[in-house]
Amino acid sequence: MAVELNRNGLRIGGDWRNGAGGRLPVENPSSGERVGDIAAGDSDDIDAAVGAARAALDGDWGRLSATERGRLLARLGGLVAEHAERLALIEARDVGKPLRQARADVAALARYLEFYAGAADKVLGETIPYLPGYTVHTRREPHGVTGHIIPWNYPLQIIGRSVVAALAMGNAAVVKPAEDASLSALAFAALAEAAGLPSGAVNVVTGLGETAGAALAGHPGIDHLSFTGSGPVGALVQAAAGRNGVGVTLELGGKSPQLVFDDANLDKALPVLVTAAIQNAGQTCSAASRILVQRGVHDRVAAALAERFAGLVAGPAEADLDIGPLISARQKARVEAFIVQGRTDLTLVAEGRIAPDASAGGHYVAPVLFTGVPADHPLFQEELFGPVALVTAFEDEAEALALANATRYGLVAGVWTRDGDRQMRLARDLRAGQVFINNYGAGGGVELPFGGVGASGHGREKGLEALYGFSALKTVAHHHG
Ligand code: NAD
Repeated sequence: MAVELNRNGLRIGGDWRNGAGGRLPVENPSSGERVGDIAAGDSDDIDAAVGAARAALDGDWGRLSATERGRLLARLGGLVAEHAERLALIEARDVGKPLRQARADVAALARYLEFYAGAADKVLGETIPYLPGYTVHTRREPHGVTGHIIPWNYPLQIIGRSVVAALAMGNAAVVKPAEDASLSALAFAALAEAAGLPSGAVNVVTGLGETAGAALAGHPGIDHLSFTGSGPVGALVQAAAGRNGVGVTLELGGKSPQLVFDDANLDKALPVLVTAAIQNAGQTCSAASRILVQRGVHDRVAAALAERFAGLVAGPAEADLDIGPLISARQKARVEAFIVQGRTDLTLVAEGRIAPDASAGGHYVAPVLFTGVPADHPLFQEELFGPVALVTAFEDEAEALALANATRYGLVAGVWTRDGDRQMRLARDLRAGQVFINNYGAGGGVELPFGGVGASGHGREKGLEALYGFSALKTVAHHHG
């Protein structure tokens, strides 16, 4: 079945309609050119979408069994796989990511659909031993209408771990994609329609954060909000939802460290250290931009990384080079300002290059590597969201741990050592939602719960844990004498 994926209206209930607030430009970050437009939804559109989601819960969608929901998600997964190449092109052009990364994102979405389709009817309650004459059991019920505010860096993957998990639990979703990258969310809604998900189960309202996003976060008709994005906006949406007593999952930023000890397998570590720092041009919440290296191998690691960074090339998404452009001129200016500060205060040991045929209007930043970065430097503390990696030396395990935990973030950490006792100690003591030992990211496994502590947010998505987050536990006590 060929589904039309190029949509630019709002998906509300069973309709595709224009936004009340006019149109917003769609820019290709690889060239800086305007390549289309999307609807600017506003608070009336959000209100209509929340109403459509509620009607779906009271209607066809709410009446489905968990098994039937799982079957529909499996069918949707099949359509995603069938349309994989077109979806990847949409995502690559809209976000500016190299095609192979966009293809991996589509494969991840298909895998989320497979995983949550299978899990939909396997979320069990418990019976609780209690006083004589009682039988007590628990049930996991959907929250109801879930709001999903999505960033621009990995729209399809975040739809997979957030919207798909919510649907599997029986919620009806209202999705507000980022204004800089909304096209794949609209394509997803078109595929959901084609897969036969009842009207109103998936609603997508494109538009600006401060209008459509704020309206969704503060809407009294939602029952749960999942927000993935920056810390300052996360604080705003949490406050807005809190005024209505609505629970929030916050997936925020990070400043993730990799700890490389003298006994590490460097052949295995080096390529991973590079990829984990620059994947998606560093615009990844779990980007491992802080590379902490023990003194005994520091110079060797720094030299090997410098050689690799010097060979990295940025270019258009469809050229499929090491990295693509950044998402916008604004983001590029922000990252370049940090690089200027780094050039003044730190040692720039390597700089990649921008492909000679890359358009001058594209938002390219060549990857850079700094060494000698102290823990109190802004580049060590702030999430840059660009292709910038930092190397800092440490003497021993205690100093490595102190440096790793020295930012307000706590999302992901990587540890490279052959010492099993040290592996266990650091797994326990690192302040992070995920710790990887002798790898980083474990291939992105959709099965693996993900989320932060501290300024990286709270709540968990991915894996079965997401299904618990997108449901409320009810305790039923039956007194039968
Ligand atoms: P952002 O906070 O600017 O925007 C995220 C979303 O919030 C967008 O849809 C935007 O339209 C919306 N928004 C903006 N202002 C709003 C408001 N006042 N009210 C409601 N919604 C509003 O973030 P971004 O720049 O798109 O994404 C980058 C950030 O996202 C980085 O900090 C990154 O680390 C984080 N991120 C985190 C994860 C994670 O899982 N922890 C994953 C991806 C990205």
